[in-house]
Amino acid sequence: MRRSCPHCEAPARIRTSEAQSALSRITKYQCSNIDCCHVWVEGSEVLYSIVPSASPNPTVKIPVRYKERN
Ligand SMILES: [Zn+2]
Repeated sequence: MRRSCPHCEAPARIRTSEAQSALSRITKYQCSNIDCCHVWVEGSEVLYSIVPSASPNPTVKIPVRYKERN
């Protein structure tokens, strides 16, 4: 996934990315613009499944939403 700096919008590089669990990850980014040098941390997590796994891990519990209706 490409990410740009939230301040100057230059492309960002991933410095580190660590799994916190089977469902979440913490990623440290660094801006490629030498006039900016912003470094920041982002988190990502599994929110829900839209198609359930055919080989589910019994220790992983993810809610299923088949279709969002308006
Ligand atoms: Zn920047």
